[in-house]
Amino acid sequence: MAAAADAQGPLRRAAPHRVAVVGAGIVGTCTAWSLCRHGAEVTVFERRDEVAAETSWGNAGVIAPGYVTPWAAPGMPRKVLSYLFAAEAPVLFRPVASPALARWILAWLRECELGRYRINKSRMQRLAFYSRARLQALRAELAIDDGRRPGYLQLLRGERDLAMVGPARALLQENGVPHRLLGPDECRALEPALATGTPLAGGLHLPQDESASCPDFARALARAADQAGVRFVFGRTVTNVLVEAGSAVGLRTTGPADPAPVTDRFDAVVVAGAVDSLPLLAEHGIRLPIWPVKGYSTTLPLLRPDRGPRQALIDEAYKVAITPFADSIRVAGTAELGSPRLEPRPAALRTLVKVGRDWFPEAADWSRASCWVGARPMTPDGPALLGYTPIDRLFVNMGHGSTGWAMAAGAGQVVADLVTGRRPEIDLDGLTLERLA
Ligand SMILES: Cc1cc2nc3c(=O)[nH]c(=O)nc-3n(C[C@H](O)[C@H](O)[C@H](O)COP(=O)(O)OP(=O)(O)OC[C@H]3O[C@@H](n4cnc5c(N)ncnc54)[C@H](O)[C@@H]3O)c2cc1C
Repeated sequence: MAAAADAQGPLRRAAPHRVAVVGAGIVGTCTAWSLCRHGAEVTVFERRDEVAAETSWGNAGVIAPGYVTPWAAPGMPRKVLSYLFAAEAPVLFRPVASPALARWILAWLRECELGRYRINKSRMQRLAFYSRARLQALRAELAIDDGRRPGYLQLLRGERDLAMVGPARALLQENGVPHRLLGPDECRALEPALATGTPLAGGLHLPQDESASCPDFARALARAADQAGVRFVFGRTVTNVLVEAGSAVGLRTTGPADPAPVTDRFDAVVVAGAVDSLPLLAEHGIRLPIWPVKGYSTTLPLLRPDRGPRQALIDEAYKVAITPFADSIRVAGTAELGSPRLEPRPAALRTLVKVGRDWFPEAADWSRASCWVGARPMTPDGPALLGYTPIDRLFVNMGHGSTGWAMAAGAGQVVADLVTGRRPEIDLDGLTLERLA
């Protein structure tokens, strides 16, 4: 694909005034807010009836910039293959016949090499640290209560988990991320409700990381955006981006209430609708290497907050996160590569319930758990794709994979900067479509 023009340079024409954003997940909502703050007249099109109703709804809520890491990592191919025939595992590969998936896997395999992994990780962390600062600033400025809890504790069940944490600690050290290896008693001091019957060899504590409710934040930000003049159009699916003379000029939409296609003209379009908005770009020859890596979660009312977690935790053996929200507890995990169809999977739910019950048996009525499934919009190398496309005035904010909540506030700001001709505050090397050239 042709390289996008100068990622950090000025716009090729006057800054657009009327901007359309496709998708009101956390990424589209943050983009809309930043665009509005830059003085644009913003309209957001969302096929669902509210913001953050898809992948942004059921995620684990963890914001851990120091822990942000590409899925393409040394040792991963072997790990994925070793789980190939397992009914349940943290990483599942269920091959389906798809040339796009085959291309994605080949690209992913190339990126698992150590040198590539380091480059990709540093690109992702650059955006993640910037994003956390933006998120914290937004919370403070708009007095948003998204149930933020400081701290993130990685639970290590046995000696094997303890040994595995060594390389992760070395990387945290290298990146200057504060962390502490704790013994079992120190873990229990931090989390007094941890069940005593479940084996616990220790934990890795990251005090500066945090968790919060992504949909609560998205809804609060959308309310603020609405008050500031952003127009949200719900129940309309964008079917086409209109391009004339090499420049995006508007959108065509349809919806169940009024299926007749409607055309709206805009000065610029930002596609931020994750996996399902890829065809809007493909129609114009922009084929982004993003594949849905599925994940599962279950959310239950927190029956006894005193018997639940105080902060987000991850069970390293199962790669399952447990997150407390205001009045609920969420358990989330599994990365499944294969069919893009989103269907609940009983085996995944069983693992989530096992882990939740193992650590916090009295926090919730685990027998009532039901399965939610979401699609992580994943690039093969890890970093998202931000900003310019080869089509003038057509922008993207896509491919945030496993860490879209952690990245959204920063990515939204960066893309709004580019749309309105400003210079982003971070270096965009490796975060734009230029790397696909
Ligand atoms: C199990 C699980 C756990 C996770 N845990 C974490 C975590 O702890 N921390 C973290 O940072 N991230 C986490 N993630 C990843 C994170 O949830 C995603 O990266 C993020 O939600 C992606 O946001 P998005 O706005 O790009 O996509 P979405 O939330 O999917 O939003 C896209 C929106 O676009 C709309 N749309 C699409 N196409 C169209 C169209 N043509 N017209 C109109 N509307 C359209 C959709 O309806 C949708 O609302 C997790 C994901 C999963 C599955």
